Amino acid sequence: MAELSRRMRALVQPHLASIEPYDPAFAPCRINLSANENTYPVPEPVRAAIDAALAATPLNRYPDPMANALRDELAVWHGLARENVCVGNGGDELLFNFLFAFTGRGRTLVTCPPDFSEYAFFASLVEAGAVAVPRDPETFAVDGDALVAAAATADAVIITSPNNPTGNLVPLPLIERVCSACPGLVMVDEAYGEFAPAGSSAVPLIARHDNLLVLRTLSKAFGAAGIRLGYVLAAPDVIDVLAAVRQIYSVNVLTQAAATAAVRLRGAYRPVVDQIVAERARMTERMAALAPAGVTVWPSAANFLLVRVPAAAEVRRRLRDEYDILVRDFSATPGLAGCLRLTVGTPEENDALAAALTRLVTTEAKELS
Ligand SMILES: *Cc1c(COP(=O)(O)O)cnc(C)c1O
Repeated sequence: MAELSRRMRALVQPHLASIEPYDPAFAPCRINLSANENTYPVPEPVRAAIDAALAATPLNRYPDPMANALRDELAVWHGLARENVCVGNGGDELLFNFLFAFTGRGRTLVTCPPDFSEYAFFASLVEAGAVAVPRDPETFAVDGDALVAAAATADAVIITSPNNPTGNLVPLPLIERVCSACPGLVMVDEAYGEFAPAGSSAVPLIARHDNLLVLRTLSKAFGAAGIRLGYVLAAPDVIDVLAAVRQIYSVNVLTQAAATAAVRLRGAYRPVVDQIVAERARMTERMAALAPAGVTVWPSAANFLLVRVPAAAEVRRRLRDEYDILVRDFSATPGLAGCLRLTVGTPEENDALAAALTRLVTTEAKELS
């Protein structure tokens, strides 16, 4: 679906008339490294615990609206209290609810593009004014002084760390400066936080900054994108707002049961995350070795790499059609000309992708131009 019918354009709220739904450009492929999912098998003890929890869950009763058992588990993990946690149907629901509650018509949201495209989309749904503080076009570093200046008059700020799709972190001292400068709310989106070096999370700053929210999800490191579970950590009165605006039963009983089991056994994911981090380093080297063929790779603290390749859209198409490998094309996104995003998969998946990419940008380079 590209655009609304004429009839619907006339009937929806005027600001929704030109809206286009998020398109992940999915195509079924043998190797899918396009959506930053965890492609490793769920650790066996976790899978067993999830299966047992699902089997023991009655389906006839409404869910616990706030998912308190899960909140408690998340709170223990992060050294906080239940009152500091709100769960949602994926991080996306919480992002929308955050913007719905704290921005809206006549208010402003500050972001640092290129970043997660959902921010701008959700902001448009709630008619928030989007203020962009662009990243450095070469390094993708955030312009700290410009961000702090913009935050000083903002109703809300979203900082993505590690950033999707550029992979880099925002330093904690800058996050603190933004929290101090902003009269509104500051959300740090840590969807990829588990893949970042220890000490890069903003969660410990919540104790000092009551306008800070940290967004996390089970969709990436936990390999549970299908169950739709995200959560926000923040001061209790911020959580009260998110609790008040949310759809009360948005996190269903099966998701609550599976997520609680997975979070309880979170230690079992450590080897998986460590392996993805090691594979990230290996893939970064392999991409860096393609520099003579015109390939650029940026350092990443997440489970994906941003690369710039010659004829990116064509390379992405040929990876899909000739090699059955799906990656994400960002080459049409402002600031990301020539860029593809490669999820770090299993060693076998990564080898297949690296070999195919190498062939496409070296031996077959002539055909492409
Ligand atoms: C994946 C992602 C999320 C949330 O994803 P959900 O599956 O909705 O939990 C949030 N922010 C960023 C930057 C992401 O990449």
